[in-house]
Formats: sequence, structure tokens, C-alpha cells
Amino acid sequence: MPQLLLATRNKGKLVEMQALLASLPYQILSVSDFPELPEVEEDKETMEENALKKARTIFSLTNISTIADDSGLEVYSLGMKPGVYSARYAGENVSYADNNRKLLKELEGIPLEKRKARFRCVSAFVSDKEEKLFEGTCEGTIIDKPRGTNGFGYDPLFQPIGYSQTLAELPLEVKNRISHRGKAFRSLKEYLGILGAVSQVLL
Ligand code: IMP
Repeated sequence: MPQLLLATRNKGKLVEMQALLASLPYQILSVSDFPELPEVEEDKETMEENALKKARTIFSLTNISTIADDSGLEVYSLGMKPGVYSARYAGENVSYADNNRKLLKELEGIPLEKRKARFRCVSAFVSDKEEKLFEGTCEGTIIDKPRGTNGFGYDPLFQPIGYSQTLAELPLEVKNRISHRGKAFRSLKEYLGILGAVSQVLL
């Protein structure tokens, strides 16, 4: 069975990525299966560049087709911040709760109708034959108090359009159906399915 390597140590992301790719005829590995691999610094200005950097670096060290995801929260009234800096919005080595508190502080006094935001995910696929990027977004509103314990990151503050629950109150299957990561990964999965079909015809 061909292998696919997921270039993330983020447990929340890993659980979602594994569920999203589960039905593919690939053995799914993660960088946690290779303790010697270095941490790749996300020092670029865009999610696209960070995702490609992570996937290229891990592929070059392992020679296994690699998928990396860079994602973040973009709040319209904050000029699309925190965006690429979502993981360290409140500073270096901070918790999800610290970032959520900082977000609530930035939005203090702003009414619900002006708290529109979106999650954006860019997934990069790098193999010996090609490099491809896939994007997905999920639109919603930042509420004023965290709710729910599922998911990770800003999920307790994000209420997707059409739902009365936050992403942290919805089960994983529902989040994956509507989320930025779900959308990006479904395009990636379709692409991998086509690649698989093409290689079978060529063999
Ligand atoms: P990175 O992609 O590792 O740079 O981190 C993205 C950061 O964005 C995470 O640490 C979270 O704070 C946030 N984030 C990305 N995707 C999600 C999600 O699905 N739910 C909640 N927060 C997310």
C-alpha cells in the first residue's frame, strides 16, 4: 500500500486529518512516527508558503509523499487577523485559552453582527512527481464567551453560519463536513483518488 505522511504534531489537526483521509487506499503516517524529524518553523507570511515549506521539508527528509496543513482564523473587522499568526496571537508558547482571551479582548464592545470571521485551511501535497495546494474556508461568527469542549484552538468561540452551536459543541463528523479543513481535504482526496486511478491504468 502506498504511504502518505501527515506533517503535523498538532493532535487536534491530526485527529481531523486522519478521519478525513481514512477511506483512502494509503497507509497514513504522521511525523510522530519519525521522532528524529525536526520541527519545521512556520516563519512565512502566508499560509500557502508555510504549508508548502512544511510539506517540502518533510518530503525531502523522508521521501514519502507528504501532506501539510497551515490554517488560521481571519476576522473581518480585525483586518483578517490573526490569520497566519493564529497559533501565536497572544505571544510565543501560549495556550489556546490565551489566544481565545486575546481575541475576545480585541473584539470587546463590537456587536455580534460585526464579528464575522472565517477559518481558512491550505493543504500542501508534495511527492516526487508534483506539488499541489488545496484551500477550504468556513464562514461564521465569533461569539462573546467560549462554549463546548470538542475540537481545538478557536473552536469554542466560532459559530458557523447556519448553526446555533460552536464548532466545539459539534461532533467531529459534523465539523469535518463543514470545516475549512474538511473542504480542503475533500479536494485533496479527490485528487489522490484520480492519481491512484491513473497509476493503475499506467501499470
Ligand atoms: P498552524 O496551522 O499550525 O499555524 O496553526 C493554526 C492555528 O489556527 C491553530 O493553533 C489554531 O489556533 C487555529 N486553528 C486552525 N484550524 C483550526 C480549527 O479547525 N479550529 C480552531 N482553531 C483552528
